Amino acid sequence: MRSVRRDSVPAPRVLTDSKLSGHRERQRAEVKYDHLIASGQPASGFAFEFKAYKLAEVKEALYQLFHGKCAYCESRYAGTQPMDVEHWRPKGLVHEKGQPVMKPGYYWLAADWDNLYPACIDCNRAREQRIPGQPQPVLLGKANRFPLEDETKRWKDRLSQNNESSLLIDPCHDDPQEHLEFTTDGVVLPKKQSAVEASHKGAESIEVYALNRSELVWDRCEVARQIQQRMTAIRKLATLLDRSCAEIMDSTRLTLEDLLSHEMAALRRFQEPSQPFSMMAAQLIDEFIRDLTT
Ligand SMILES: [Zn+2]
Repeated sequence: MRSVRRDSVPAPRVLTDSKLSGHRERQRAEVKYDHLIASGQPASGFAFEFKAYKLAEVKEALYQLFHGKCAYCESRYAGTQPMDVEHWRPKGLVHEKGQPVMKPGYYWLAADWDNLYPACIDCNRAREQRIPGQPQPVLLGKANRFPLEDETKRWKDRLSQNNESSLLIDPCHDDPQEHLEFTTDGVVLPKKQSAVEASHKGAESIEVYALNRSELVWDRCEVARQIQQRMTAIRKLATLLDRSCAEIMDSTRLTLEDLLSHEMAALRRFQEPSQPFSMMAAQLIDEFIRDLTT
């Protein structure tokens, strides 16, 4: 997960223009649900059919915003599967600890650009996942989950002030670097915030988005290995240049410097926004550069 500026891509007009379908759909949903709630039947069997959030224009904007990667796990869905357009605040129903805690969900945000993210199937849907070190598969994935620090403060009324505080990392509003840290084995951990405490938001996000499912850990581990291979080459080249400066021919030194520059560029590429697992790469590379320069 990496921090992304939502305003780096304009909101799709289909969601914001009052004459177009997304905006109109939102108005229709609000009228319908407001009526149900006012008449005391908010949990009736009615389910509004939301369509605007998955229009092609919305998917294209989400693709550009996250470079074809899942907003949560940073794997590149675009080459292997269709995008799930994910509602960060669930639109139809909110479930926590196996129980519904809000029905309908945040229906007024179903076509709200700020509430939409591109997600891979394994982060977005409730599926059985294998977790390293756990003998049995576990049901994980965001689905209708939206845990809060304090359930009593849930934002249940679209006309009231929002006082809720989410326990999930929002890549467009939080800095994931403050909550998650990666090992060189590809495992992600809640970031330590003191000697005894780690980020609650990090821990909850890892569980809800299934960020330690074994195949994902394996993919991150492979990228971490490639990064470490580059680092090994850079360390050796830097040592060679340091030691041999006075002894080697100018032409050889220029070649070594050229190789070092090439390896550094290749290493930096891993942390570009378009690359899978770029946040993990940035953490590993920043630590390496700190060690190299001290
Ligand atoms: Zn994902």
